[in-house]
Amino acid sequence: MTGLRIQNLFLSDQSNKQLKIAGVQAVLRLILLRMVHLIDALHLGKPDVICIALVECGPNELLLVDSGPESVFGSVVEGVRSLGFEPGHVRHLLASHVHLDHTGGAWRWAKEFGTTIYAHPKGAPHLVDPSKLVESAKRIYGDKMGFLWGAVGSIPEGHVIAVEDGAELQISSKRFQVLCTPGHAQHHNSYWLESERTVFAGDVAGVLIRGGPPVPPFPPPDIHLESWKDSLDKIRSLQPASIHITHFGKVADPMPALDALEKRIFGWADWMKERLIEGKSEAEIIPEFEKFTVRELLGDRTPREDLATYEYADPASMSVAGLTRYWRKYHPEQVP
Ligand SMILES: [Zn+2]
Repeated sequence: MTGLRIQNLFLSDQSNKQLKIAGVQAVLRLILLRMVHLIDALHLGKPDVICIALVECGPNELLLVDSGPESVFGSVVEGVRSLGFEPGHVRHLLASHVHLDHTGGAWRWAKEFGTTIYAHPKGAPHLVDPSKLVESAKRIYGDKMGFLWGAVGSIPEGHVIAVEDGAELQISSKRFQVLCTPGHAQHHNSYWLESERTVFAGDVAGVLIRGGPPVPPFPPPDIHLESWKDSLDKIRSLQPASIHITHFGKVADPMPALDALEKRIFGWADWMKERLIEGKSEAEIIPEFEKFTVRELLGDRTPREDLATYEYADPASMSVAGLTRYWRKYHPEQVP
């Protein structure tokens, strides 16, 4: 320390200039380090459907939140490059949950770049052995699996870390807190990055396209409204300045969006319950549900051209199946 001080006393003008430049660079670096970058995964070539967040945690230490499906691995790698980063520096990947549109491509990051994946303890085993996940996804997507989500692969156990609710992850300059946020899926995590006052909320904070209204994604088999509400309360209690969601991107004014989402979760679920009480089949309900949700979106001033993107990110058929299962499993006394 003393030696360093003595050296500084004898700095030449030239060295002083260099020192000033280095100082400015260090400040710029710090500003840059604060940044969260967004990558549009362009799923099946469509913009504004799947968004991957990239956080610069330290020099040469990048973190992604979710990977998107395997089919977009190449475009996300390109996205990392076009932001001026090296994909090989993506050392960490926080998984919101193990649905294929979120982390179907995580195994590629582990394989190509040695990335470590962090996931909910109930989700982590499915990243190591995805066979059950694939089985249940096949029931939903049939022969469209490969087309929609790409190839499936397993991640070596050493590259997957299960993270519990409340755990703190110090990754270089950034500290993330794990928030277990079930409701959309039992194995859903969100991640609080206090330095940015933002929550990376996967699907639990809903789908919100191009500043439109928030809507809930209700896929089978884990929908549970009561725990979803608790998860929203948990996020709200942090008073975030923004949230980041996979479908799609940054929500700069999150509190009204979270409140509106909660209202819609219960509103849509009640609408669904009434149709089940009327004795309608899922096949009969799907087109009605589509009309009902389109009416709601248009009523909330969603531009007509965004309706297809909403349906693409949050398909009606999926929501009808997920809500039917919820009512029959958790409240069988209320529906036939
Ligand atoms: Zn999901």
